[in-house]
Amino acid sequence: MNVYDGERMTEMLGAKGMTAAADGADADLVVLNTCHIREKAAEKVYSDIGRLKRQDGSRPMIAVAGCVAQAEGPEITRRAKAVDIVVGPQAYHRLPGLIDDVLAGRAAVDTDMPEDSKFDALPARAKQARPSAFLTVQEGCDKFCTYCVVPYTRGAEVSRPWGEVMDEARALVDAGVREITLLGQNVNAWTGEDEKGRVQGLDGLARALDALPGLARIRYTTSHPNDMTEALIRAHAEIEKLMPFLHLPVQAGSDRILKAMNRSHSRDSYLRLIERIRSVRSDMALSGDFIVGFPGETDAEFEETLNIVREVAYSQAFSFKYSPRPGTPAAGLDGHVPAPIMDERLQRLQAAINADQLAFNEATVGRRTTVLLERAGKYPGQLIGKSPWLQSIIVENADARIGDLIEVDIVSGGPNSLGGAVASRQAA
Ligand code: SAH
Ligand code: SF4
Repeated sequence: MNVYDGERMTEMLGAKGMTAAADGADADLVVLNTCHIREKAAEKVYSDIGRLKRQDGSRPMIAVAGCVAQAEGPEITRRAKAVDIVVGPQAYHRLPGLIDDVLAGRAAVDTDMPEDSKFDALPARAKQARPSAFLTVQEGCDKFCTYCVVPYTRGAEVSRPWGEVMDEARALVDAGVREITLLGQNVNAWTGEDEKGRVQGLDGLARALDALPGLARIRYTTSHPNDMTEALIRAHAEIEKLMPFLHLPVQAGSDRILKAMNRSHSRDSYLRLIERIRSVRSDMALSGDFIVGFPGETDAEFEETLNIVREVAYSQAFSFKYSPRPGTPAAGLDGHVPAPIMDERLQRLQAAINADQLAFNEATVGRRTTVLLERAGKYPGQLIGKSPWLQSIIVENADARIGDLIEVDIVSGGPNSLGGAVASRQAA
């Protein structure tokens, strides 16, 4: 979502006549779009600010945007005097006005969560450089997992209206986009009324996008297990453009830990859900998020996380060491897990995930599938794109262009990318 917000800020400043600078030190303005999800991500902003000082001692105008700005607004300007603007994730449409404030010598801190949607104030989507684009449809979270800052930094769950989403999707397709990834903190909680006033869920939205000529692929992320409706599951069997890849975080494998995390699903209900999804779409690739070392996690409880990885066999997954976040209920819990144990658990978990990822990739060798070409490769003649299962496929001598959807035979598989040979050009 930060990538999407960054693109919207770039387009907005572009509409005001600004252009992208090659390097932070050469810029008139640097916007640091920040993440507050873990401590490491939040600390990074302060070291980045330090690096923006030029050799002659001067510096660009600096804006801190994103969730660190939201959570630590006043502290940022105290800790880092070089910062001119602090703007939260729900107020960044006001960036041009904040720049004017700074030029006029006024303080420029805006961490409001205004009633009026920022989306209404942003300019229409500009021409897209890449054939795959993000589109935020839902923001915020009401789930309050005990470790997580998102409900505080991004606010309550809000779905963007149907018409607004469809307009932005059409604008993206007109701007050259072939694949849209719908974004939300809980994207599958999206709900809205279609143009006929019927209440729709994400499945309905996907169906409407499926009908857009020119759009080839639809993805969505991130989903919460409890919002994975039967209608959305069935959509994966019915909607051709909906890709067989699902990021469905479980976080931990032990019911006691899941309860302490306030995840409101159990190990069993999650596994049954996965089974149901695979029963409608047998080739569904699954991805997940995991936290190791939640306060009080025992060795046996961690083993249950490893077990869930073995049972699901993810095609890829993200895993993190628990990071206490200020203001969250878990930060006050006893049973802090010592760093060496956290490290060891993370290593073991990542080894298991990596092995599954390699196995998944190797199992697709020999398949004929479609690849959406996204960028040039390292060597002449190479183009890199994504398979339906979100694997990176390197295609040699494709005689095709970025943005083409081509048929490819997967000929080799490694842990992070696969090799593809052109099967035929598709008249897509
Ligand atoms: N809404 C999504 C996730 C958003 S945050 C969901 O519930 O699945 C992205 C990931 O960051 C989470 O899935 C979780 O694995 C990780 N995360 C969040 N807070 C964390 C914390 N305090 N410490 C470590 N990892 C955390
Ligand atoms: Fe955070 Fe939980 Fe909401 Fe995901 S569902 S954003 S982990 S509170």
